[in-house]
Amino acid sequence: MAYTAPVFPADENERLAELAAIDVLDTAAEEAFDSLTRLAAYICGTPISLVTLVDAKRQWFKARIGLNATETPRDISFCGHAIADPDRLFIVTDASKDERFRDNPLVTGDPNIRFYAGMPLKTGGGSAVGTLCVIDRVPRELTPTQRDALVTLSHAVVAQLKLRRRLSRHEQYYAMLAHVSAMIARVTDIESLCSEACRAGVELGSLKLAWIGLVDSLSGNLRPMAWAASESQLAESAFPDVAGDPFERAFASEVIATKRPRVCNGLAIDPHTHANSLRQRHSLLASVVLPLVVNNTVWGVMSLYAGRRNFFDAFYLDRAAELANDISFGIDRLQKARDIHYLSFYDAVTGLPNKAGFEDKFETLAPQLHGGCLLAVGMEQLDKVGAAYGAGAIDSVLKQVTQRLQAHAPDRAIVALVRRRLFALFVPDEDPANFSRFATQRLAKALAVPYSTGDEEVGCAVHLGASFFPDDGKTIGALLTAAERAAQSARNLNQTFRFYNAKIDEMTAARLRLEGDLRKAISRGGLVNYYQPKVDLITGRIVGAEALMRWLHPERGLVSPAEFIPVLEASGLILEAGRQALARAIGDFCKWRDAQLDPPRIAVNVTATQLKDGNFMTAIQHELAAGKCNPLMLSIELTESSLMTAERQARGVLQELREIGILIAIDDFGTGYSSLAYLVTLPMDELKIDRAFIMKMTVEPAYMGLVNTIISLAHNLNLKVVAEGVETDEQANLLRLLRCDQAQGYRYGKPVPAADFAGMLASSH
Ligand code: C2E
Ligand code: CA
Ligand code: CA
Repeated sequence: MAYTAPVFPADENERLAELAAIDVLDTAAEEAFDSLTRLAAYICGTPISLVTLVDAKRQWFKARIGLNATETPRDISFCGHAIADPDRLFIVTDASKDERFRDNPLVTGDPNIRFYAGMPLKTGGGSAVGTLCVIDRVPRELTPTQRDALVTLSHAVVAQLKLRRRLSRHEQYYAMLAHVSAMIARVTDIESLCSEACRAGVELGSLKLAWIGLVDSLSGNLRPMAWAASESQLAESAFPDVAGDPFERAFASEVIATKRPRVCNGLAIDPHTHANSLRQRHSLLASVVLPLVVNNTVWGVMSLYAGRRNFFDAFYLDRAAELANDISFGIDRLQKARDIHYLSFYDAVTGLPNKAGFEDKFETLAPQLHGGCLLAVGMEQLDKVGAAYGAGAIDSVLKQVTQRLQAHAPDRAIVALVRRRLFALFVPDEDPANFSRFATQRLAKALAVPYSTGDEEVGCAVHLGASFFPDDGKTIGALLTAAERAAQSARNLNQTFRFYNAKIDEMTAARLRLEGDLRKAISRGGLVNYYQPKVDLITGRIVGAEALMRWLHPERGLVSPAEFIPVLEASGLILEAGRQALARAIGDFCKWRDAQLDPPRIAVNVTATQLKDGNFMTAIQHELAAGKCNPLMLSIELTESSLMTAERQARGVLQELREIGILIAIDDFGTGYSSLAYLVTLPMDELKIDRAFIMKMTVEPAYMGLVNTIISLAHNLNLKVVAEGVETDEQANLLRLLRCDQAQGYRYGKPVPAADFAGMLASSH
């Protein structure tokens, strides 16, 4: 048997999508279509008339007169041929004489078709979805009137199909909108609102892809907030591609600028989009980008994509706009709720945390806190400023105070406005003396600069009071009360700053005096080096010396380093003082060398602050060069704890020092908690056992065992061992038996001034 099967139209995929969108296949018979078919059969005088829809493999009859079958295969269908030209009536006058249909089973058998006339039904922009056709079992023709009538009736069928679709879309989209409104009333955060809205759009709004992007208020860029897609593959590959797509961005910026939706109903034919493989791959053929307007500004955009051209018709756009409105409303509501939260924790004028916000931040910090200082900044004359220049001036001054506090406060500080006239600041883990210096020297000065109120400048006296955590209170409330009292008493005493706690106040004052004196001493050469010999335990000869800093105080005489080294450390003065000590040690060594005294290696004590200072290595090299000294004359002593605090920087610096020949010693070994096994991973040469072990060694056998272990472990690790604070012969003898290498202590000599040490060197030769 030979007959010609219909060819598929070029836009078959879109045609099928359109057919699917009409959503009429396999639905029950409807009178509207039945009556139009009856009319066609009546006017054309044929026994058979059909409304057919051409599906992928079959043609299905929505309405039929004179035929029992409900569908037939597409490859034997007449309508398959008819839809090839969607704008023309297709007529076969005698199928038995037509090459294409002579052997068609519908012609050779039941229903024995001879005559066929079918008008394509065009519901979309492209090919037809089906036909309205009339069929006869005998050959015949249609009069021009009958033809016109058939075409007109086909238009009526199309109108009916569209109406049908609109009615079902109505139901569908209103269901989507109802779903979204219910969801908006329920969600508590913007993120879930957005993702649920996208999901509803895809599932209930027949979309392929929906996504919401937030407009970054600074850069204007879009940040994807939520998305949903009909296929999981699309959801995975679409982001963040779509958001960054230049085409999408161009649409979005147009929408942001105009606050109006941007529709594109034929994405694939747009030359720009051809480049975008994602759209091609997933056949995203139509899109609309909708503005989400909150408070009159475009908060974000919602982009909807459909798999069919011309999908976004006027009806859909209206619904989409309603959807966007609903979403915008929901965002606005949630933002307001967030603002209410914001207002209960922040001051609206300055943006600083208010008392509740201050407490909130403090409480998150508290578990890790060891200490800290709270400062109350009382501003007395604010009322006068208000009376003279108006309430606006107060706000302006408050904002300026905020800026100054934020500019000067240490990084970790929390700045707050706890009451209308009371600023507060909390600095975690702060040393009182440093804090007092910060408050009086930086903050008080910064706050004393006049404030501008429009044309005028006004001064505003501030009184600062501080309390100390946890001594003066463990809660913000208690600390604030104490700090305010301190500020009050500062005011009564006409001072700028006071600590609440009199003891801290006194201690701080003493500390600051000491610091001032030390600063003077450093600049006037008031610090000197004493030297203490280190001897070889076997030969008893001087094999080294430790430089120990002394302060020649004009009134107090010789001050112990135990008192002033911590102050130098805390104030940062140690950098300069340490550099000077090093220079003196090298200078003294040079003098002894030039006097042919054959001086031994000199050890200088170095702290973590110095190690962490980037210039340490350069400073050492500079001093060595100045004295024309070989680095082999120098060793440095570091305590376990400085090594731990400077760990990261230390390793590299120590390596460099060692490379040029400087010897590294660990001071006070045994007082820290670091294990020897850990310490030896650092570059080092010598271990100094702390005096406490040497003292107890002769009284408590356990300590003797410990010292023994330390010495043998150190030797296994190729470290020289030095015993500190050796005072007695018994200690010296024991240490020699334990194979300790060197000793240092009063038994061999107390620390003495440089000139005296020169004498010791001379007599030892
Ligand atoms: P250190 O480095 O452990 O110094 C040894 C301390 O033990 C010295 O105290 C020394 O006088 C003392 N000493 C030595 N032999 C004996 C002894 O047989 N019996 C007793 N009771 N004590 C002895 P000094 O000079 O008071 O120094 C105390 C600490 O101050 C030093 O401990 C060191 O940590 C620090 N220091 C001293 N000079 C400097 C310096 O120039 N820079 C730095 N960063 N720290 C220094
Ligand atoms: Ca030392
Ligand atoms: Ca020591």
